[in-house]
Amino acid sequence: MSIAGAAASGDLRKICPLVCRRTHSQEYAEGVTHTVHVKHVSFGDEHPVVIAGPCSVESYEQTLELAHAVKACGGDMLRGGAFKPRTSPHDFQGLGLAGLQILHEVGAQTGLPIVTEVMDPRLVEQVGEYADMLQIGSRNMQNYPLLVEVGRYGKPVLLKRGMAASLCEWLGAAEYIAKEGNFNIVLCERGIKAYPSGEYSRFILDLNVLSALRQETFLPVIVDPSHATGVASMVESASRSAIEAGAQGLLIEIASGRADAARPKCDAAQAISPAVLERIVEFVQKHEVQTMGARAYA
Ligand code: PEP
Ligand code: MN
Repeated sequence: MSIAGAAASGDLRKICPLVCRRTHSQEYAEGVTHTVHVKHVSFGDEHPVVIAGPCSVESYEQTLELAHAVKACGGDMLRGGAFKPRTSPHDFQGLGLAGLQILHEVGAQTGLPIVTEVMDPRLVEQVGEYADMLQIGSRNMQNYPLLVEVGRYGKPVLLKRGMAASLCEWLGAAEYIAKEGNFNIVLCERGIKAYPSGEYSRFILDLNVLSALRQETFLPVIVDPSHATGVASMVESASRSAIEAGAQGLLIEIASGRADAARPKCDAAQAISPAVLERIVEFVQKHEVQTMGARAYA
């Protein structure tokens, strides 16, 4: 029995035949990953991809400073939220369109491809005009009209795992995008709510899912150690562990290391400095994507 078959209810070949490795075993033999191209960056080859940037775009200066830091460390892409899914409607919601314009401008200046979240199916085209990759956040993993819209739109999608989603539900969400003809999907494990999440870390980083996904799908998978831990001092070890466990990339939140820099408006506790990012990138660059997980299940 497959890993997911044992762990989840339902047969993946029925729920998500389009993204299921077993229905494409000719094209995607064991260990072979579908490559997703975002401009010059490739997810799914032997080099893990590092995406880094602020949680939220707060100003042009902040975004440009952090983009230069990402580039200087050897990072591959810039992240930053313009539309933020906040627990309270009274909290900072992101700069919206102005944030997208900043990201676009900073991307053009630094040459870094941009990924940013889209929350509203009506805004997919607008966000897509400015971004190179559309992020579906954890809270929207099962927003089916949004998945259909990004599927139709066709630009690469970063599909984060719902914070309580099973592997089956996650791949079902990917299937909605693929059903519209868009296979440019990168999965992102970002920690799940499980006992004892919240006690010493924000969520529980599920590294076991990387091996299970490697068996069940050909889509590339990256890890977000920032939301998974919620604690800046845990991000470096979580990043290393994720790469050792076979992650095909990392999505990391950073903030300025300058003493006079403003505190980030969102997720300040998990933001690492560019100096720590540099150590992580150095580690990542020494590692090729690990495929032992797939072999072990053969
Ligand atoms: C983010 O990456 O900006 C974010 C909000 O993460 P998540 O959807 O995983 O909570
Ligand atoms: Mn964040």
